[in-house]
Amino acid sequence: MEVITIIEQIKPNIYKVEIPLPNNPLKSLNSYIIKSDDRNLIIDTGMNRPECMEVMLASLEELDIDLYKTDLFITHMHSDHSGNISNLAKENAKVYCHKKDAEIIGGNYAWEGLLANAILNGFPAHEDAIGKHPGFKYRDLGWQDFTYVNDGDVITIGDYSLTCVHTPGHSEGHMCLYEKNHKILFSGDHILYTITPNISIWIEDYDALADYLLNLDKVGKLDVELVLPAHRNTFTDLNGRIEELKQHHEKRLQEILDILATGARNTYEVAAQMKWDLKYDDFENLPTPQKWFAMGEALAHLTYLQAKQQIKIEQQPDKIRYSLV
Ligand SMILES: [Zn+2]
Repeated sequence: MEVITIIEQIKPNIYKVEIPLPNNPLKSLNSYIIKSDDRNLIIDTGMNRPECMEVMLASLEELDIDLYKTDLFITHMHSDHSGNISNLAKENAKVYCHKKDAEIIGGNYAWEGLLANAILNGFPAHEDAIGKHPGFKYRDLGWQDFTYVNDGDVITIGDYSLTCVHTPGHSEGHMCLYEKNHKILFSGDHILYTITPNISIWIEDYDALADYLLNLDKVGKLDVELVLPAHRNTFTDLNGRIEELKQHHEKRLQEILDILATGARNTYEVAAQMKWDLKYDDFENLPTPQKWFAMGEALAHLTYLQAKQQIKIEQQPDKIRYSLV
């Protein structure tokens, strides 16, 4: 069967390649490819599944990209961004990523601990919860040889000079790339246009939402004319979108406070009562991956409210519930 590619030229030598994510509400990943006479750069790879690799390889061929002259930049650890590193990177390739996320891609992730904690928070234990988690199912084969990047590091590809902007929140090691001369921001999953980035945690050791909101302001200070996100449409009004995203989380926090005003709940119960932009009649019947993301998002907001001392945790040996202070 012929492979369908969707490639759009964004600027001279910068291309957006759509990598399909079948049966996933995100629909596709935007992989950005920057060409130069010396080294090329692929920003984000798609999941480790044949549907992604087929389209990636056909697109690279169409763009006449030689993988032996190509480096990779991984905005963050999620499998739709990092899943194909091992399938794409040749021995001489540099694979840029922040250390926090690189270590997780490399296999340093306590999936079993995550499940135990989810069950403590009310997640149904009977489901094959880890096996169905897309982060697990479509993860990279365990690439180890990363070139760690930090805030302010610059990667030069042809005429483009890309500054790394550390933007933790969506993940702890999330990185955007800023091209100052052309006023372009490769925003990864930090800022999306027609959908809202998922701010999730599954262990309460990180206040992801607090970091996320801080780093919306951080990129808001950059002079940007074109935003290139990792999903859906590109756009121009960065600051307008940042305001919308802040309002979205304000509403979400209020929604949770309203739910807890009717009584103490565990995280799973809070997630089940929140409104989700998904087609469903009953939260219980949602596919497991979507329940994971709903619960992770609820937990990130609960952790934020708890840090702000607007809610308190009721911890019993085998369960955790939240209530208003
Ligand atoms: Zn992501």
